[in-house]
Amino acid sequence: MLIDVMLQPKPSCADDSEPDVLSVADARQHILSEITPITAAEKLALRTTLGRVLAGDVISPLNVPSHTNSAMDGYALQATDLISGITQFECIGTAYAGKPFKTKNQAQQCVRIMTGAPMPAGTDTVIMQEQAEILSDGKIHINGEHCAGQNVRQAGEDIPVGSVVMEGGRQILPADLGVLASLGISELHVRRRPRVAFFSTGDELRAIGETLGEGEIYDSNRYSLYGMLTRLDVELLDLGVIPDQPGAVREAFLMAANMADVVITSGGVSVGEADYIKPVLDELGQIKFWKIAMKPGRPLTFGHLGDSLFFGLPGNPVAVMVTFYQFVQPAIRYLASGQHHLPLTLHASCSHALHKRPGRTEFLRGLLHQTEQAELQVAVTGHQGSGILSSMSRANCFIVLPENCGDVEAGNMVPVQPFACFV
Ligand code: AMP
Ligand code: MG
Repeated sequence: MLIDVMLQPKPSCADDSEPDVLSVADARQHILSEITPITAAEKLALRTTLGRVLAGDVISPLNVPSHTNSAMDGYALQATDLISGITQFECIGTAYAGKPFKTKNQAQQCVRIMTGAPMPAGTDTVIMQEQAEILSDGKIHINGEHCAGQNVRQAGEDIPVGSVVMEGGRQILPADLGVLASLGISELHVRRRPRVAFFSTGDELRAIGETLGEGEIYDSNRYSLYGMLTRLDVELLDLGVIPDQPGAVREAFLMAANMADVVITSGGVSVGEADYIKPVLDELGQIKFWKIAMKPGRPLTFGHLGDSLFFGLPGNPVAVMVTFYQFVQPAIRYLASGQHHLPLTLHASCSHALHKRPGRTEFLRGLLHQTEQAELQVAVTGHQGSGILSSMSRANCFIVLPENCGDVEAGNMVPVQPFACFV
């Protein structure tokens, strides 16, 4: 049975938060406050702007629809005739879409009209053909009750000429291509795409195709990062694997910062290991090493490397994806568009109990589904260690257990962020 209970915070005495630890929301806010959105623009053919960010407002050069037209196949006539009780009309011709009917319609006359055909002069109302019958003398008899102006689409009722159709900063979606085409717009100014350089750090990492030596692993982070970045519509610069050597790291950081708006690394930011990364970053830029009250993804490095934004993500493969979705994705979106939206959060009934320590936000990997009773239910995808990437691959959402919440009982409602909303 589902218990419809929202998660309750545990008393603060159970809280293990530390004073120098940032909350997820504060870290995200801090990151966004350090970003100046890209303004440089380029002009592109309409179809190639799909997924791109509009540089400025689009003002409509015309009315949509461009003329007042029929929404139905039927008969166009003047409503005053119907109001005065006339039910039989002389049909004076046919109006087709794209072929306006030129003769003015008089009292007690009607025009056979097709969907999309401009309303003939002297008509303001359309009777659908199912409510009309052709009499033996050729006259049209109208049945039923009608309203003045029915079944007519007014010029400009969708988009009036001179109005703002889309605002700068908007990402162009499939419907937008259709709307812009309906305005006759063939080219658009869109913002330059952010350039993102990314690489992995770690002596144990091998590229796929190489043979693994003892203690070595394949570099998977660059592949999940590649997937997440590709979905974001950015220019990608894959800089490969950098060994744990200060000189190599310095060189890679400098090269990346020269080429890219955003530099992303994974690995080497855990406390106590590869200590040389901190001095290299301190020497090259203004970088902060944060502890974030979250699991996974506690250590995060963020700052400026020259003119670039720098994100040093943890090395563990799940932590890379969690911190990317929570911090890097909103940052890149904001850089590209000047817009920020929190990820869509739904609430689902948790199928089983979960252990949770208050004091940090936990991002569990969940499988969300809808029951036959149309209720949302979620279950974790097996073992949740931050290196267990298969738990991410089997999941379709994060279960987000807020910082102040404690243990979850089966049937409690928990917040979930569907991965589909990160696309
Ligand atoms: P680190 O943050 O460098 O201490 O890495 C933490 C863990 O993540 C270690 O087990 C690393 O071997 C692993 N790891 C780091 N980078 C990668 C990578 N690119 N692909 C797969 N695992 C990684
Ligand atoms: Mg490492």
